[in-house]
Amino acid sequence: MQLQDTSLDQGQRAAMVRALRDKGIQDERVLQVMNRIPRHWFVDTALLGHAYEDAALPIGCEQTISQPFTVAYQTQLLAAAPGMTVLEIGTGSAYQTAVLWALGYKVFTIERQKGLYDEAKRRFASLASIRQGLCYQPRFFLGDGYEGVTWNDFGPFDRILVTCGAPFVPPKLLAQLKVGGSMIIPIGGGAVQSMLRIVKQDADNYVTEQYDDFRFVPMLQDVNFKH
Ligand code: SAH
Repeated sequence: MQLQDTSLDQGQRAAMVRALRDKGIQDERVLQVMNRIPRHWFVDTALLGHAYEDAALPIGCEQTISQPFTVAYQTQLLAAAPGMTVLEIGTGSAYQTAVLWALGYKVFTIERQKGLYDEAKRRFASLASIRQGLCYQPRFFLGDGYEGVTWNDFGPFDRILVTCGAPFVPPKLLAQLKVGGSMIIPIGGGAVQSMLRIVKQDADNYVTEQYDDFRFVPMLQDVNFKH
């Protein structure tokens, strides 16, 4: 199927980006990329009319595509540079993956739900029109984000971005972070999580900064192989 991006879509997207700016997002690179990636390609056709609202939307498997403000906030906090390696935990719709990719990062993304993993890979293959000039294709993994990337020695990573609410900081993720690198992770086992930035100073020392509160779907253990 040919993906459409009409002038109405583009206008709604520009309005979404203006709203993000009004809500305090200042990183122009992040705003530009969110103006470029058609978010409506990442939502169910039944929800197309809602793609540019600042809202999380269901994507199946009891999961959601993160709210645009949350994506912008986490990406801004990540403060990565083109060419850096970024490990994302929770591929979901792959919208956040696309934002990281379009910023020129080398993206590795892990999803625990087989249905979402399959769909994200399929969806990404159809993004040819925005692939121009981008060199690093994201690598998709079906796995448990608590373990990080276990298949190959891709790590350690410059940045780690967790897009589900974790009850604690997974030790294996800390181990896969480069010295000088940082992890953005919403922490809290209940309904609300605090956004943390954890900077790895050296092999055993970390500095933790706490930011605003958010509501994420939970980070669950183990892979769910069902569709
Ligand atoms: N960035 C995604 C967010 C999706 S919601 C988007 O904007 O579309 C969070 C995702 O994390 C869900 O898809 C959920 O299945 C996934 N998830 C939860 N626990 C996980 C784990 N342990 N490992 C990998 N993915 C996980």
